[in-house]
Amino acid sequence: MPTPVPDLLAAARADADRTVDLRRRLHRHPEVGLHLPRTLETVLGELAELPVEVTTGRSTTSAVAVLRGARPGPSYLLRADMDGLPVHEDTGLPFASEVPGAMHACGHDLHTAMLIGAARLLAERRDELAGQVVLMLQPGEEGFHGARYMLEEGVLDAVPGAPVAGAFALHVFTSLPSGTVSVRPGPMMAAADHWSVTVRGRGGHASMPHCAADPVPVAAEIVLALQAMVTRRVDVFDPAVVTVAQLTAGSTDNVIPDSAFLQGTIRSLSPQRRADTVASVRRVATHVAAAHDLEVEFDHQEGYPVTVNDPGAADRVRTAAAALLGADRSVPTPDPLMGAEDFSYVLQRVPGAMAFLGACPPGDEPGTAAGNHSNLVVFDEEVLPVGAALYAAMACDALAGG
Ligand SMILES: [Zn+2]
Repeated sequence: MPTPVPDLLAAARADADRTVDLRRRLHRHPEVGLHLPRTLETVLGELAELPVEVTTGRSTTSAVAVLRGARPGPSYLLRADMDGLPVHEDTGLPFASEVPGAMHACGHDLHTAMLIGAARLLAERRDELAGQVVLMLQPGEEGFHGARYMLEEGVLDAVPGAPVAGAFALHVFTSLPSGTVSVRPGPMMAAADHWSVTVRGRGGHASMPHCAADPVPVAAEIVLALQAMVTRRVDVFDPAVVTVAQLTAGSTDNVIPDSAFLQGTIRSLSPQRRADTVASVRRVATHVAAAHDLEVEFDHQEGYPVTVNDPGAADRVRTAAAALLGADRSVPTPDPLMGAEDFSYVLQRVPGAMAFLGACPPGDEPGTAAGNHSNLVVFDEEVLPVGAALYAAMACDALAGG
């Protein structure tokens, strides 16, 4: 059955007031982390008006809603994240955050509103659908592994007898022209790992360094040795980013401290590079310190894995976006983003794709508009019906075997 793509966009635009209203209600009351009770209540209120079966999370405030087509068929998953960031909003928007120190600065309020908008579009077309659409509404994308909790609680088996066969997610970015959809096959976003090094020395008088074991020059050498390690040891075609984001030591001008502390991030696009780079940071820090007869404590915490798009799924997104918006609005993502995303956990389990949706506000340029996570970021609300229609088109396409 052909996908009724053009009428999806017209229908989403006709319904845009509701989508914008929901987005603004969410925007006024951002919540951070895995527990978003007010957000969940709002979302459940919207889902209650739809012909869907809803389950809420046991360990977090997640929601899963299953929409059944008129005929049996496979299950496909559409995901939206719902959490805000611990950022104080300074946009001055009439619907700005009313919660001091919290803001929907990554556009997850748009994702949630678009997904609910898509659910309305799909509900009106149930007779044309063969299969189930699983709506995954997750908390805790911003570093809290919300998607992993939902996978552990069985989101992929939300439909008994028809496990999720594929998954799709959208993310808005102000760095792309409004209304353009951007996707690529293979790695779309990076793995992000945290590391820290504590250099253990021996404190003393700043005038007599030979009587102490000064960790400061050793820490400085480690910072520089890490830069050389990345440029000399990492294949540029399988890259890594190592950033020392914090470096602290000492308390005053006449005391050699007994320790120095460094921490930062490692970004990579393949499992092998990821493992090698973690090992290299540890090795460089340990041996630079050893050269000066000092020791280090190395700590490493795994963050999100690489977000890898299935080539076939990425191609379907590109085709659907072109049909919906015109070929010039569907553009390839030239390079992966070195940011990270917990939809990666879903894509480790089922084939699918994450796509970016440009949301640069009118009057701004994608290159200079306040970016995602900024206290000043403003997203173009014109993209709300576009995103809702694209989510719905992806589900129709997948269920039609496109
Ligand atoms: Zn985000």
